[in-house]
Amino acid sequence: MDQLSYKRGVISRKTHHCSGCLKKWTKGTSWDVQVNVDGGDIWTWRECPICQEIKQLPHFEYEEMYEGDFREYDEYNKIEKKYKGDPKMDEMIEVSKLEFENMKKRIEHLEERDAWLDCLEIAGVDNWEGYSYACDIRDGVKYE
Ligand SMILES: [Zn+2]
Repeated sequence: MDQLSYKRGVISRKTHHCSGCLKKWTKGTSWDVQVNVDGGDIWTWRECPICQEIKQLPHFEYEEMYEGDFREYDEYNKIEKKYKGDPKMDEMIEVSKLEFENMKKRIEHLEERDAWLDCLEIAGVDNWEGYSYACDIRDGVKYE
């Protein structure tokens, strides 16, 4: 395997997944990017900000590194925590199939209500005599 190029701080224009940890990061992320060649194969190896820190560890070694292997470093989770809430990190969350189905149903229900609200607004619901009373209920206005 030969390295054709190695660049640090390459700002991405789209979402990529990290070769080191497989985590997805959105555009604007600063990557370390290697382009490698082996025989007829050319591939790109990208390292996210977390994996760039993993590489700084004194016991880090590139020997026999495969995609996702950076996660095997004990320090990975600790370093990852520092990036929690970074909007560029496209965090994966896990939900059960039941939770997912319930959220899907809830969204479908809300979309139906939203479409109905559009109909009411187009039909001029704000001219309805009860409209300001409804606004008061929403705003928590109390009547004596
Ligand atoms: Zn990574």
